[in-house]
Parts: sequence; structure tokens; C-alpha cells
Amino acid sequence: MPLSTYDLEFDRRHIWHPYTSMTHPLPCYPVVSASGVELQLADGRLMIDGMSSWWAAIHGYNHPVLNQAAAAQLTKMSHVMFGGITHPAAIELCRKLVAMTPEALQCVFLADSGSVAVEVALKMALQYWQSRGEKRQRILTLRHGYHGDTFGAMSVCDPDNSMHSLYQGYLAPHLFATAPQCRFEEPWNEQDIAPFVELLEQHQSEIAAVILEPVVQGAGGMRIYHPSYLKRVRELCDRYQILLIADEIATGFGRTGKLFACEHAEVVPDILCLGKALTGGYMTLSATLTTRHVAETISDGAAGCFMHGPTFMANPLACAVACASLTLLAENHWQQQVTTIEAQLKQQLLPLATLPSVADIRVLGAIGVVEMHQPVDVAMLQRRFVERGVWIRPFGKLIYLMPPYIISSEQLSRLTAAVADAIE
Ligand code: PMP
Repeated sequence: MPLSTYDLEFDRRHIWHPYTSMTHPLPCYPVVSASGVELQLADGRLMIDGMSSWWAAIHGYNHPVLNQAAAAQLTKMSHVMFGGITHPAAIELCRKLVAMTPEALQCVFLADSGSVAVEVALKMALQYWQSRGEKRQRILTLRHGYHGDTFGAMSVCDPDNSMHSLYQGYLAPHLFATAPQCRFEEPWNEQDIAPFVELLEQHQSEIAAVILEPVVQGAGGMRIYHPSYLKRVRELCDRYQILLIADEIATGFGRTGKLFACEHAEVVPDILCLGKALTGGYMTLSATLTTRHVAETISDGAAGCFMHGPTFMANPLACAVACASLTLLAENHWQQQVTTIEAQLKQQLLPLATLPSVADIRVLGAIGVVEMHQPVDVAMLQRRFVERGVWIRPFGKLIYLMPPYIISSEQLSRLTAAVADAIE
């Protein structure tokens, strides 16, 4: 479908984009198709994708296997209500999820998006304690965290960079520990967990759950912390009988070099949130997994059930594509793909650390982050990236890459060269 300047003007005047002003919007680039690792602009130019559409498109775009899964499901049924009905795509997907996640996680709740998976996780924690007859309603989390844009999820996002002040009085007052400081590759420093221990011990009888992004804090700053921090959190949660919610919506499905980032610390959460790459980035779907103990405790409580059930729960199209994406993940040898990307990101990004404008460089798995001393001019940088035929969207002080796993070495070099050029 060709796009005219009239269409773009309509977009500018009538359509919200993520975190964008309606009066002074940043420029928007019209993409008309995407294939493999390339996005095609309306004027025919191709851009190599460095973002995987925000962690999601791990196998690239327009993938024949994922297309076929969607097409096959479409001829059977694109959707059916999940209340009182089940279907093969949901059963197959949940069977795969139960098999690929830790043994303890046996019960799956399918929902619409990452934010809703977090809402579901928080509600599970609250209902769990209600069933046990304890009034525990506070959540302990980390500064610099990000868990989504709905109200429950926002209430556990970093209070400063998610602008809690805007919604003051509306957000539940949760507990925020200082973010981990000890870096992934440094020797572990036991002091790093001290502020978390202090908060937890002060409030332990009120705390229903801890929620965190394991090892990589994404949208709250692209911070990569020491797995021992996570290990200590698990030990503390065990000691004080507090539920641990791992938000692996961004980190799940291989992105950090482990299938799930919790594996870096060999910990198993009580509740696990998945989304984004679950469908290979084809459509929105999320899953919240929990233990049979949590599920049964909730179910034996006063309500007699878990109180959530979205209209598009377990959407068959999304489930069918997710099944195909998980099969591809294994067939494509994701570990090898991610290890190769990690080695190249380290080789090509780490040397940039010596540049005066660069504050820090961090690489883990298929994630490469350049943190600048100053916030970047997003509109200007994005224009330069597009002119160079790459799609990279910086935010704040961060220019970062998280390409599709299928990216070739040449394509990745184009991305890192564009980042180096932009900084210099
Ligand atoms: N949790 C994490 C860790 C995320 O990175 C995101 C999305 N950036 C979310 C939750 C929310 O997911 P969604 O945008 O699909 O609602």
C-alpha cells in the first residue's frame, strides 16, 4: 500500500505513537514491509534492524515458517473464547512452555501483553496471600526496573524515570530497593544486596512478593547486574516465605545467552512472566507461569478461582505462531546464534569505551549498550541512522542494539559501525 504525504500528515495529526507528544511529535518513518533483518521504507530504502521491534522479532520478519503457522491456523479459526473452551494451539503452546521452563512452574496463564502478564503476576501474589489469610499487599522491587505501562505494572516501575509523580495518589505505594551496582562481569560484592535486605527485613510481614527483571534491567536503563544478586534475592525470599516474580518479558527466549536469564543465577522464580519474543514478534501474547502450590492456594481461597480472564485469552493465531517460534528457536540453535552475536558486539563495541563522550559499554548475549555521558538527540541520531540504512532507536543516554538472532556478521557490522560513527 503506497503512502502519500497526506497519509503521513494524517498520522501526525491523529495517531498517538509510544511516549510521543501529539503537539510536537518526533519524526516517524513509514515502513511498508519487512523481511529477514530488513525493514523497507515507503520510498524503497532498506534498513537493517537493530532493535528486533523491542526484543520481539528474534527470527526476523516475514519468516516463512511463522507465516505458514499463522496461515494454517487462520483456516481453522483465528479466535474463540477461552471460557469453557480449549483448543489445540493453546494446549500445544502451554505444553512447550511447561517443558522448557523450570520443573516447578506447572501452571500457565495466557494473556494479551507483557504489561498484562505483570498485572496477572501481581494479582496472583495478592490472591495467594489472601487465600492464606494474611494481609500482604506490598511488592518489593528494584530501582531502575521497568515492568509495563498499566497501573499495577507502573506501580513497580522505577519511581523516578517512570514519572510516578504524574500519577501520585493513584499508584499503590510499593517498596523500592537501590538498584544493583555490582556489574555482571565483576567479582560479586556482598554489600550490593544490603539495601535490599534492609528493606525486606523492615517490611517482611507486609510483603506479598518481590518482582524484578533478572540480570538485565531493560527499559529502566539497560543495566546488567551480577547474577549473585539474584541468587541472594531467591535465598531471602525463601527465608521469609515471600514469592519471587521474575519478569523475563524482555530477557526470555535466549536474549541474554541463557534460555531464561534466571539461569545465570540458577534460580527458579515462583511466578514467571513471558511475552515479546514468545510469538517471534508476530503478535501480542504473554504467559504467566506459576507453581502448582501457588495455583492451588489461590484456587482454594475465598474466590475459588483466579480472578482474571481477558477476551482474547489464548488467542489461537498467537498461540499457533508462538508454537512455531519456539520450534524455530530450537532448530535455529539459538545459543549459537546469540553467542556469535555477543562475541561480535564485544569486539566491535567495547573499543568505543575510550571515546570521551562514552560513559560505559555493556554487552550480554545479543544485547549491546552504549551509555553516553549526555542524553542523545533522538530525532537527529535516528535520521542519521536511517540515512546509513540502519534502524536503531536510542533513548535517554542510551544507544543500544538487540538485533534479531538471524542477523549475519556483515549486517551486524553495519549496525556497530553506524553506532561508532554516530558517537564519533
Ligand atoms: N516487562 C518488561 C521487562 C518489559 O521490557 C516490557 C516491555 N518493554 C513489559 C514488561 C511490558 O510489556 P508490553 O509492552 O508488551 O506490555
